[in-house]
Amino acid sequence: MKIALYNSHGRVLEPFKPLTDKEVKLYACGPTVYNYAHLGNLRTYIFEDLLVRTLTYAGYKVRHVMNITDVGHLTGDGDEGEDKMLKSAQEKGMTPWDIAKFYADAFFADTARLNIQTPTVICKATEHIQDMIDLIKILEEKGFTYQAEGNVYFDVSKFPKYGEMALLDRTELKAGARIEVDTAKRNPQDFVLWFTNSKFGRQAMVWESPWGVGYPGWHVECSAMSRKYLGDQFDIHCGGVDHIPVHHTNEIAQTEAATGKEPWVQYWLHAEFLLTKTFKMSKSEGNFLTLSKIEEMGFEALDYRFFCLGAHYRTQLTFTEQALEGARAGRRALFEKVKSLPSPSPGFGPNQVSATGRDYLDRFEQYLGEDLNMPRALAELWGTLKDVTLGPEEKRWIINTMDRVFGLGLEALTPDGVPVPTQDPALAAEVEALIDERNTARKNKNFARADEIRNQLKGRGITIIDTPTGTSWENHERKM
Ligand code: AMP
Ligand code: ZN
Repeated sequence: MKIALYNSHGRVLEPFKPLTDKEVKLYACGPTVYNYAHLGNLRTYIFEDLLVRTLTYAGYKVRHVMNITDVGHLTGDGDEGEDKMLKSAQEKGMTPWDIAKFYADAFFADTARLNIQTPTVICKATEHIQDMIDLIKILEEKGFTYQAEGNVYFDVSKFPKYGEMALLDRTELKAGARIEVDTAKRNPQDFVLWFTNSKFGRQAMVWESPWGVGYPGWHVECSAMSRKYLGDQFDIHCGGVDHIPVHHTNEIAQTEAATGKEPWVQYWLHAEFLLTKTFKMSKSEGNFLTLSKIEEMGFEALDYRFFCLGAHYRTQLTFTEQALEGARAGRRALFEKVKSLPSPSPGFGPNQVSATGRDYLDRFEQYLGEDLNMPRALAELWGTLKDVTLGPEEKRWIINTMDRVFGLGLEALTPDGVPVPTQDPALAAEVEALIDERNTARKNKNFARADEIRNQLKGRGITIIDTPTGTSWENHERKM
C-alpha cells in the first residue's frame, strides 16, 4: 500500500518511506495536564490515532511515543505568561503533582472512550529531568547557550536554519515584532532551556541542575524524551498547527544543534484546528467543551470520533451541536446496518472477497494513502454497505477490515448492540463505595463533591442513574 503524507517541513506531499524498513518511529506532543482536554485537543489525538492505525494497516510496526507535559509550559508558547500547572494548582488548592495526576487520568479516560489506542511509550516530563539537563549540557558545550538573569537561553543566532519549517523571516525576527521583549534575551526568538529565576511566584516543582535549582523550559522536554525513546533521528513528529511557529521550531533547533544530525525528523504532520462559531476553544482561557460535557448533552464519545472522520485533518473544522447531531445520526445508522450483517466465519479471508469487494478495499486504501483522506475512505465503507451485489458475510468482512483504521468498534457489534464488558467485582465494589460517598455528600448538600464523583465515574464510562428507590449504575461505554 502506497502512502503519501503532507510534510509541513517544505509544505509538500511526499511518498512515505520510513528510515528502517518496516518500523515507523513516531512522536506526538502530548497534553499539558493542568485542565481537561478540550474537543479541539481531542481532534488532534484522533488524527494521530488514525495515522497510527493507517500505518499499522499498511503493515508497519509503529513505535508511538507521547509525552505528558506536567511541568514547564507557560500560558504563552514562548517564555511569557504564568506556569500553567502552578496557576491551576493555586486556583484549585491542590499541589501541581496532584493536578497533573488528576488531569492525566481524565485524559486517558477520554482517549479510551474515543477508541484511541494507547501509545507504545507514555513519558512524563517530570520523570525525565536528567535527560533534559544532559541535552542542555551538550548544547552548552557546543556553544549554543548563554546565561542571563538566572536563566539558560538557546541562542538562535547560532543556528542558521532557525525557523525554516515555519518559514519565519529572519529580518522580521530581528525586529521582534510579535514577541514580548525579554531584556535578558540577545535575540527576540531565543528561548529558555532552564529557568532558575522564575518571574511567576514561588515555583513548586524544582530540581537541582548545573545552573542552579530550577525547572526546564517546555520545548526541551520533547527534544530530550523523543531522543531517549526514538534516537537522534526518526520518522514522524505530530501535533496541532499551533505548534509550528514556536514549539516545534524550537524543538528542531535544540535537537539538531545538539546531535549535529539533520533532518532530525523526516515528516512533520500537523492537524488543523477545531473551531467554534462564537469563540476560539482555549484550554488556558477555560472556555471550552470537553468530551464529558457532550456526553452529558446525550452524545456518545464515538459520535465525536465519527464527526472528526468527516473532515480531512488539514482542514479547519467548525463544531456546532447541530453538526454533532448529524454525526450521531450517521453513526447510529451505520451501527444499525452493520449489526444486522452476520459476523464472518473464522475461515473467511481476503481470498473469499469478490472482485467488486476488492475494488472497494483498493479505493479505501488509495484514499488512506492520499494523506489520510478519511472522508473519502469512509465513503467507500458506505458504498460497501449499500452495494446489493455483495453478500452479507463478505460485506461484514470488508467493513470490519476497514474499521481497523476508523476505530469505531464495528467488529464487536452484534444484533443486540455492543456487548457491555462484564463488571468485575473489584470495579463494582469501587463504584458502589463511590456511590455511597456521593449519596452522603448529597444528603449533606455537598453538591460539588457529589458532582465530582459523578464526573469521575462518567470519565470511566460509568453512568449513575438516580431513581426513587435508590441509585444504580451501568457501564455504558460503547453501548448503542
Ligand atoms: P496542549 O494540551 O495545550 O499542549 O495541546 C494538546 C494538543 O492539542 C496539541 O497538539 C495542540 O496543538 C492541539 N490543539 C490545541 N488546540 C486545538 C484546537 N482548537 N483544535 C485542534 N487541536 C488543538
Ligand atoms: Zn512537543
